[in-house]
Amino acid sequence: MSIRFYNTMTREREAFEPINPGEVRLYTCGPTVYDFAHIGNFRAYMFEDLMKRYLVYRGYRVTHVMNLTDVDDKTIRACAATDQSLKEYTRPFIDSFYEDKKTLNIIPADVYPAATDHVQEMIAMIVILIEKEHAYQADDGSVYYRIDSFPDYGKLARIDREGMRSGVRVDTDEYEKDNVADFALWKAWTEADGEVFWESPWGKGRPGWHIECSAMAIKYLGETFDIHCGGVDNIFPHHDDEIAQSEAVTGKPFVKYWLHCAHLRVEGKKMSKSAGNFHTLRNLLDEGYSGREVRFELLSAQYRKALNFTRDGLKERRVALGRLDAFRSRLDKIAGEDAGDLPAWAATSEADFQQEMDDDLNTQGALAHLFEMVSAGNRACEGASLSPGEARAVLDLLDRLDTVLGFLQAEAVEIDPELQDLLDQRQHFRAEKNWAEADRVRDEFSARGWVVKDTSVGPELKKLNQS
Ligand SMILES: [Zn+2]
Repeated sequence: MSIRFYNTMTREREAFEPINPGEVRLYTCGPTVYDFAHIGNFRAYMFEDLMKRYLVYRGYRVTHVMNLTDVDDKTIRACAATDQSLKEYTRPFIDSFYEDKKTLNIIPADVYPAATDHVQEMIAMIVILIEKEHAYQADDGSVYYRIDSFPDYGKLARIDREGMRSGVRVDTDEYEKDNVADFALWKAWTEADGEVFWESPWGKGRPGWHIECSAMAIKYLGETFDIHCGGVDNIFPHHDDEIAQSEAVTGKPFVKYWLHCAHLRVEGKKMSKSAGNFHTLRNLLDEGYSGREVRFELLSAQYRKALNFTRDGLKERRVALGRLDAFRSRLDKIAGEDAGDLPAWAATSEADFQQEMDDDLNTQGALAHLFEMVSAGNRACEGASLSPGEARAVLDLLDRLDTVLGFLQAEAVEIDPELQDLLDQRQHFRAEKNWAEADRVRDEFSARGWVVKDTSVGPELKKLNQS
């Protein structure tokens, strides 16, 4: 059985066959770094991470490129309100993006090309587009893509060609399906751009958003590659524009499989600052939720299904993770050094898990099988019918599945040496039954924002605001 993915281009589930056997080249549209990424952005990055991990689990080698959009209308507007350079302005948002990804256990891409480091590649593409008469410089000095020069324009979104208005131009980075017009490849400098400009054959200016992804994808992955992802709102115009630019330059198909994830709703509503349901990861951590819980919640629905992200959902994940952790420590106590055969109930769960994931990454189904396995495993433990070798094999299976899911292991807390010292002192006082001193050390922990919990496998440090 092979993996099947729903390809937005064909509107069908297709058996996945990469261009080069065993090897997958993947491009995912990255963040626009003018602000902190919000939880809706992370739904897309999470789905991409899951897909990549699953491809690796199924034996593929994956090369993953994710761009950083560090120049576009929004970034320039936000930067203009400060007296920083574009690089200075975007740096902290890039850093926090990396940090958030780490908290969510997202595996880093192989390359994170920044748009501002690839303007020459974009200019080179635009030069070719003008030579091939797919683009023209208008009176306002900007260069536009002539959409009626590309007969397949809009094929990904399947837009109505009747509504197209070539010759009419849009120069904002985002436009709507009912306003299909020639779009800007290069924007001539205006006063509002301030210090942000590059020299080009068409004078001072900057690239449009869509050309960024075409230039960087081709540079790092070649003219035709396997998978391109994003959220559904990237389909039009962004991805159709990427296709028009790239295929007009190379004369080759740009991408074999287009995958898009659905929107995220928060507490049943479209997320917005005015509705009071706008979350960044930082907000959620401040409320006491963990990256592990957020990751689980974001993966709880299949990526093409609507996902309603709620605090109640996060609390349910916490309970489920507690069950999982308890199961794991139960197995730990039984397990021997060497793995034996997997018990039949676990082998069945693994096969079912894989079958669901092969079916366009059905995490909902896959997770149901995982928790069935936990129940079956608990029954086996209670019946004392699990051998040390079997317990080890189940633990190994959990590790294997976690290479895909990335939230089955409790988060390792990095403890700084001072805290470790305190922890050692506390153990020492407790061993001596010196409760007064042990309590003093405990208070010291709370003063530093930590709490110590004694578990069956020894003391565990937790941040005070976490349960
Ligand atoms: Zn893009």
